[in-house]
Amino acid sequence: MTKVMTPPPATTAPPVPLLDLKGQYATIRDEIRAAIDAICEAQRFIGGPEVIACEEAVAAYCDCAYGIGMSSGTDALLCAMMAMGIGPGDEVIVPTFTFFATAGCVSRLGARPVFVDVDPDTFNTTARLIEPAITSRTKLIIPVHLFGQCAEMDAILDLARSRKVLVMEDAAQSIGATYKGRKACSMGDVGTLSFFPSKNLGAFGDGGMVCTNNKVLGDRIRIFRDHGAQPKYYHKWIGGNFRLDAIQAAVVRIKLKHLDAWSQRRAENACRYAGLFGGSAVKAPVIRADCRSIFNQYCIRVARRDELRRFLDSRGIGNEVYYPVPLHLQECFSHLGGKPGDCPNAEAAAREILAIPIYPELTVEQQERVASAILEFHRGGRA
Ligand SMILES: *Cc1c(COP(=O)(O)O)cnc(C)c1O
Repeated sequence: MTKVMTPPPATTAPPVPLLDLKGQYATIRDEIRAAIDAICEAQRFIGGPEVIACEEAVAAYCDCAYGIGMSSGTDALLCAMMAMGIGPGDEVIVPTFTFFATAGCVSRLGARPVFVDVDPDTFNTTARLIEPAITSRTKLIIPVHLFGQCAEMDAILDLARSRKVLVMEDAAQSIGATYKGRKACSMGDVGTLSFFPSKNLGAFGDGGMVCTNNKVLGDRIRIFRDHGAQPKYYHKWIGGNFRLDAIQAAVVRIKLKHLDAWSQRRAENACRYAGLFGGSAVKAPVIRADCRSIFNQYCIRVARRDELRRFLDSRGIGNEVYYPVPLHLQECFSHLGGKPGDCPNAEAAAREILAIPIYPELTVEQQERVASAILEFHRGGRA
């Protein structure tokens, strides 16, 4: 009898999660617990030395003079826009292919988000796509450094300066990413970060930061973060409570010391995937020669994405779609008149994109299992 090669049953291989924060925590547990314990003993939870130390460390890491800790990445966007005076009658240019918060904050301030398409290779917006959207009402452009890679900032900044428009980098997914050697957050008028636990630099809850090299703007943002009071109980503006708390600040500062090593591991994993997918129907992410990505996500493009998702689910392989619906087609923005076909690159990306595990602790064996399942699907295996 001839021996038939049979693939191992799906149940024998342990699942591969999209992200494994428990593995990361195991390596820093003692340091984190000691820091949290010290805060509990001091009973100082809001502001104080931990928050200031975190702001200084993160700002320095991003090559920025000022860091203002925030309650989330969303609040960082919102508070920075409040301090810039964005409001009714203003237009803010936002890529349609991003997390909701980038545009939600614009609408919450009564301004109008103007959606622009993205480049089909990098999923980031470009100066060429932004230019036709600028009007006399445009106050701000928000390039989003999606999935860990910076947008083409020189061209965007040139355009913005020539039209006297401000630029805010949404770097929620890209702390430490570089463009022509410059760090995310250090190029525009301001940059915003998120410390949501699943981001590359994640807290133990919500958190974020605004970074800037503009002292006047930085000072205003700091005042808006605390109800617009300067000094306390004397309200110059109407701000809000957008503060970062001490426990989150301590966690972020400890994790920051490991961030470069973690980003390096992600880049190595990306390199390994690129080799494994070479010559197949799977389109690996395109990283521009002048960019260094931190691979907050690793998003492949495939034609039969939804079928592949079900196949990977059946194999216990973590995956996620960022993002299934571009913002110009979201129900809550229907009053803005967006319709299918307006942003064809983003609409195609929404149909074909799939994030797969890339986290630093991913083993070579796990990675090979992820890649071979995807390749098996494309060979018409158990699809
Ligand atoms: C995560 C994210 C945000 C919001 O950050 P939160 O901390 O979750 O509020 C904003 N923009 C982008 C691009 C993000 O990925």
